[in-house]
Amino acid sequence: MTMLISSSTLISPLHFLPNSDPPYNLLQSQPSLSLLSKCKNIQTLKQIHSQIIKTGLHNTQFALSKLIESCAVNPSGDLSYALSIFESMDEPNTLVWNTVIRGKSLSSAPMGAFDLYIRMLVSGAEPNSYTFPFVLKSCAKSGNTQEGKQVHGHVLKLGLDSDVFVHSSLINMYAQIGELYCARQVFDKSPLRDPVSYTALITGYVCRGCLEDAHKLFDEIPVKDVVSWNAMIAGYVQSGRFDEAIAFFQEMLRAEVTPNESTMLSVLSACAQSGNLELGRWVRSWVEENGLGTKLRVVNALIDMYAKCDDLETAWTLFEGLPQKNLISWNVMIGGYTHGSLYKEALCLFREMLELEVVPNDVTFLSVLPACAHLGALDYGKWIHAYINRNFSHLTNPALLTSLINMYAKCGDIEAAKQVFDRMETRSLASWNALISGLSMHGDANHALDLFLRMVHEGFRPDDITFVGVLSACTQAGLVDLGRKYINAMIEDYKISPKVPHYGCMIDLLGRAGLFDEAEALMDTMPMEPDGAIWGSLLAACKLHKKVEMAEKVANHLFELEPNNPGPYVLLSNIYAIAGRWDDVARVRTRLNDLGIKKVPGCTSIEIDSIVHEFLVGDKLHPQSNAIYEMVDEVDRLLALNGHVPDTSEVLYDMDEDWKEGALSHHSERLAIAYGLISTKPGTTIRIVKNLRVCGNCHSATKLISKIFNREIIARDRNRFHHFKDGQCSCMDQW
Ligand code: ZN
Ligand code: ZN
Repeated sequence: MTMLISSSTLISPLHFLPNSDPPYNLLQSQPSLSLLSKCKNIQTLKQIHSQIIKTGLHNTQFALSKLIESCAVNPSGDLSYALSIFESMDEPNTLVWNTVIRGKSLSSAPMGAFDLYIRMLVSGAEPNSYTFPFVLKSCAKSGNTQEGKQVHGHVLKLGLDSDVFVHSSLINMYAQIGELYCARQVFDKSPLRDPVSYTALITGYVCRGCLEDAHKLFDEIPVKDVVSWNAMIAGYVQSGRFDEAIAFFQEMLRAEVTPNESTMLSVLSACAQSGNLELGRWVRSWVEENGLGTKLRVVNALIDMYAKCDDLETAWTLFEGLPQKNLISWNVMIGGYTHGSLYKEALCLFREMLELEVVPNDVTFLSVLPACAHLGALDYGKWIHAYINRNFSHLTNPALLTSLINMYAKCGDIEAAKQVFDRMETRSLASWNALISGLSMHGDANHALDLFLRMVHEGFRPDDITFVGVLSACTQAGLVDLGRKYINAMIEDYKISPKVPHYGCMIDLLGRAGLFDEAEALMDTMPMEPDGAIWGSLLAACKLHKKVEMAEKVANHLFELEPNNPGPYVLLSNIYAIAGRWDDVARVRTRLNDLGIKKVPGCTSIEIDSIVHEFLVGDKLHPQSNAIYEMVDEVDRLLALNGHVPDTSEVLYDMDEDWKEGALSHHSERLAIAYGLISTKPGTTIRIVKNLRVCGNCHSATKLISKIFNREIIARDRNRFHHFKDGQCSCMDQW
């Protein structure tokens, strides 16, 4: 008898015996079942299910397995619904078992697939080559080595290890759980040399950083496909070996293998991190020609690449042009601004992101907190800290906490930095380093050095960054003996070779203490050339100790090393001025003018109500300019009344930082302080950030201002913090 299933037969239910399905081709064309393949949501699926029950098809394994497959494997499906159908079946066949195992292996609880597999064995259904890839995948995903090995045993017993899918799944499982030796054994024992097995093993090597093994294996692949090339390129990018990644990519093109989206994402990441704008541009035109130019993941990678290669304009154009931005788009653009030192723009964009109700994540905060730190935007930084606490229940990411410590320290609130540090559950080396260097920036050498000892006591091994913090604490406080002790400990006990910053601290420390012979001897032992900063600190020491002849020698080095830096000319002219050698002062100034060197303008910023205001010397651009200058005059009047005599010699001869601009009371920090005085309540601490060193005149004026107005003034200059209070400064006038 020929059985025809037409729509009319739907009315009368069909009766099949379980496990005795009607011919496959008939079921295949059954209307309810063909609808399943087009089904997009669970509601329609449930309707189809009731249709299937009405027609009696639910008595067939085939119909139920199709139904289960639709619910279990589809992203729009419903695994628990699939499982409920599954549990209602008397004797599910292998196909049905395979489907639920597959569904479970794709879920967020993949180990459930292994449990189902055990039930399958117990029920007497025989696993086949479609069962194992998913069971093995679930073992890999949940990192269960023991279960994985057990399954491997079953595979061997059933003789399925020669199946190409099972074979590569085994290698993949071992590679993913880090059992590279087992992965290699499976690979070597089999004559199968399929591309998937090669790639699985290569990826395993790459993830464990064994790039050389990966490379060797890669060379053995007879026909290399795009996936194996991608594995190698991604591996080199992840290991930070960008040039090699790019070389691999170029070799891939020569081998005439067509790259795909994954290839280009890896290559763009390599370009971004190695600053290879030229190749980045080439990739852009390639993705555009190949129809990938509008893919969000690709555009995000392009934005990141342009931003990291300092082409922020193009990055912004791409970002703006995105019809739909995701969190990553915002993160790469904000991170790009911070990377390019456009800190205000980074904070603006972050604000905009929150206004659009895009929820930030740790990556976002790791970009905006350094921006706050650079700007000294304490209120904004505090607000972000509160936002994180409010919206993310438990703050544990050590990188984020370290970033908060940095932000507080650089914004002048060292107490808050200490609090964040004290409350950390798990501290990283970076968090210790952040607080040590924070304390040393604040001139608190005692606490910085105590913290260092505590860190060592708690079993952390200091690195070269720790020692920069420790040595600069010694330098700030003029602790020569301790400085010598620590640099020796670094070399002898910790086997860390000093780098330029370590030498810099020591030479600065020795120079300031007047130990010029020792400083020069140390410079002679340096395996690298001393940089401008080192010579510069030595020149400053010459000024401090009035060593004119030595200053001339040192300045000549600097003129050669940094021909466009006005700093050494200014310092040398000051040194001549102190010695009363006016002819030489004039000579240096003329030379400086002739060279036409532009100096960096002094700029001071102050944050009021989470907005950062910047002032240049003599700046009249601020909307409240009139009120600010009235306050500047008032400050000058009160300073004079309290016996402050502006050091006019500085106006005439000292060409220190703000040399050209004249009137001392209009130096940028004075404008910022005046603005702080008129826009905050009496008694509020004023925090300012200056891009250059504070001049001597402003330093002594600020001390007095702190007393007259009864305000604590915390100033960060290029090198360190000054806490002005009651007419004193924490730097004890040594800076
Ligand atoms: Zn000044
Ligand atoms: Zn000071």
